Amino acid sequence: MKKIIMHIDVNNAFLSWEAKYLLDQGSNLDIRTIPAVIGGDESKRHGVVLAKSTPAKAYNIVTGESLFNAKQKCPRLKIYSPHHEIYEQESAKLYKFLSNYSPKVERSSIDECYIDYSGMEKLLGDPLKVAHEIKDKIKELYGWTVNVGVGNNKLCAKMASDFTKPDKVHTLYQEEIETKLWPLPVNELYMIGKKSSVKLNEIGIKTVKDLASYDFEKLKLLFKKTAYMMRDYAFGIDNSEVDNLPHENKGISISTTVANDLINKEQIKKVLWDLVGELSSRLRKENVYASVIVLSLRNNKFINYSQQRKIINSTNTTKEIYNEVCQLLETLYKKEPIRLVGIRVTSFTDKPYQQISLFNSGEDIKKDSSLDKTIDKIKDKYGNNIILYASSKK
Ligand SMILES: [Mg+2]
Repeated sequence: MKKIIMHIDVNNAFLSWEAKYLLDQGSNLDIRTIPAVIGGDESKRHGVVLAKSTPAKAYNIVTGESLFNAKQKCPRLKIYSPHHEIYEQESAKLYKFLSNYSPKVERSSIDECYIDYSGMEKLLGDPLKVAHEIKDKIKELYGWTVNVGVGNNKLCAKMASDFTKPDKVHTLYQEEIETKLWPLPVNELYMIGKKSSVKLNEIGIKTVKDLASYDFEKLKLLFKKTAYMMRDYAFGIDNSEVDNLPHENKGISISTTVANDLINKEQIKKVLWDLVGELSSRLRKENVYASVIVLSLRNNKFINYSQQRKIINSTNTTKEIYNEVCQLLETLYKKEPIRLVGIRVTSFTDKPYQQISLFNSGEDIKKDSSLDKTIDKIKDKYGNNIILYASSKK
């Protein structure tokens, strides 16, 4: 039986959510109707465009470009600062609403969700009818619009939701690959980055169809392992599941966006120390130990990168996780301004696996965890900000 997957994507999410917020605050201007962008503080640093209105798009303003540039393209452009707390709330509404349509909902980013609609037809009806209902009800209930893409897997649903915007439903079923996917420029195919598309263009691959019909052996020589993914995607093949695991099972993550870019390792480490403190105390509360640690950084051009590390001893002590994270930082950090720092831990065990290493005697570990426990108790009693470990003040 073919799966039915839907991808729901909020149109110009930050801008739409900001527009709704401003209207709720009593403004009588809908910023979706004027050239407007959401961007960081112009005065504090070189802010960039986070989201743009459709009228702003008409001036060729693109996400990620500097506010300065954007203003040059359209001098009467209005710039609004983001309200991330509001966006989180709107995003949560989307997720909750979609849970009415399937038990399998995946929140793939702040403004995108997948639902697995397979088997739901019997209960709720025709997928296309339901896709329209989702789109219309969201607009009616929350005051912003979405695109809904429907397909037989996540890739096709995602591609379909991107066809034309806003406020639209599109399908990309298996039998529509040749007519709807193949004519697209190859750089529009999911996961084909700028670098790859330049490389592909150089060897004469301009469209998805060109990619699908290109000699696979040659493609492998050029792109190694990535060639397999490219070929699959060009044929609309994707076997990944809608991942509806509750957050806990996916791991625990914590991140922070800083007001001023972090410009050296010491500054990043300070932030990391605070994050690790918070994160490890959550691990201890849930009585679990992590054995994989992921560090993510976002630079001032909004490019994310991350690296993970499997650790020999699963742990939940602040000091050990901090040490691991610092080692990741050594390899990950490219000496560029950093705007967001995040840490995620996964692969939980319910026991610490302690192999006495050269650097850590069993005694040290015991000492660290009893210190952590004391601190957790104090934090519980007096709140989070009462204690700063000595190193966070360095
Ligand atoms: Mg979106």
